[in-house]
Amino acid sequence: MNPQRITVLGATGSIGLSTLDVIARHPERYRAFALTGFTRLDELRALCLRFAPCYAVVPEAAAACRLEDELRAAGLDTRVLFGSEGLCEVAAHPEADAVMAAIVGAAGLRPTLAAVEAGKKVLLANKEALVMSGALFMQAVRRSGAQLLPIDSEHNAIFQCLPAAYGNGLATVGVRRILLTASGGPFRETPAAELIEVTPAQACAHPNWSMGRKISVDSASMMNKGLELIEACWLFDARPAQVEVVVHPQSVIHSLVDYIDGSVLAQLGNPDMRTPIAHALAWPERIDSGVVPLDLFSIARLDFQAPDPARFPCLRLAREAAEVGGSAPAMLNAANEVAVAAFLDGRVRFPEIASIIEDVLQGEPVVAIDDLETVLHVDIQARARAQAWLLRRER
Ligand code: NAD
Ligand code: MG
Repeated sequence: MNPQRITVLGATGSIGLSTLDVIARHPERYRAFALTGFTRLDELRALCLRFAPCYAVVPEAAAACRLEDELRAAGLDTRVLFGSEGLCEVAAHPEADAVMAAIVGAAGLRPTLAAVEAGKKVLLANKEALVMSGALFMQAVRRSGAQLLPIDSEHNAIFQCLPAAYGNGLATVGVRRILLTASGGPFRETPAAELIEVTPAQACAHPNWSMGRKISVDSASMMNKGLELIEACWLFDARPAQVEVVVHPQSVIHSLVDYIDGSVLAQLGNPDMRTPIAHALAWPERIDSGVVPLDLFSIARLDFQAPDPARFPCLRLAREAAEVGGSAPAMLNAANEVAVAAFLDGRVRFPEIASIIEDVLQGEPVVAIDDLETVLHVDIQARARAQAWLLRRER
């Protein structure tokens, strides 16, 4: 059997590196076909030297020429493409068997959709793409016959706890609710009055998971759980009211499915993204991921709490956007991306992330999403309004 050729979009990131770690453990099964990076191009070069992909993708033409020359000099014939076109080309390439969609944020939308439209096996880490364009994205999955496998640990857990026929509707397989677990992030116990003082470094110091900076801030604000609620609605065709968020500080139960007969199925594991990555890569088979076995005796206990809506308004904003539908989730996502970047740059305080999102959601009209152009337009409008908020704040 020839190894499966994997395109890794966002290879230099946290998920990308974990994916390459799993791929490297199984050279007989998987081969890196294309690797993409946006910053840290030295790291991308090192990954190319190690994995010898057929393609690499960087942001610009000049960087592409430079990297291609360097790889040539090292004896590799990797072709280096650039920009959004390059990303879409390697995502939809006829020789790619599967695509790991692990670019962060809205930048991942086009290449992820390109992989879906090409009918690939798509390993979806980039939740923002689905949040922005949910209905279009899922239509494209159905039309192309792409196989969509969730990488987000919660959604991967839910997928593992559902029967194969869940695509016919959750009610038909006896599901009552989805219980989406949340660690609560680094500020789970921080009093509301202290949140105004927290720094980007504190927000990025997640107690259980090591992740990129944007998703780390999202975890701290619980917007990550809000985005995941919307993601779960699209992936599993659930209503927002069917998805309940449960704070579970140990991050050992990755989510649960509650059935009408009273059975509740959960997936457990150490908090290491190589488990869902290996699961999705090998599905329906199982392979070693490199993750150490779960030691329940050392964990000793599992705790559960309800989320605190007063300290984590982002979760409420996301649930409202999910219920409103249309362009509201895309607006929420765009405003959040601008607000998180501003927080990481030291331009706003942590609680202002929610203020910016609320301003955008209240100020921009909700429209129906019929095509990709509308999604991109909504995204631009929402970003402009969030930027205007920042300018007013700094005046
Ligand atoms: P990261 O910041 O570590 O990596 C992001 C990757 O995207 C990098 O390779 C970067 O070069 C690339 N990138 C950034 N901006 C880009 C742009 N404009 N164009 C092209 N490429 C760009 O992020 P991460 O933690 O690996 O997360 C990646 C995605 O996976 C996010 O959508 C996140 O929500 C999701 N996710 C991550 C985790 C985790 O544990 N890290 C868990 C679940 C879901
Ligand atoms: Mg998650």
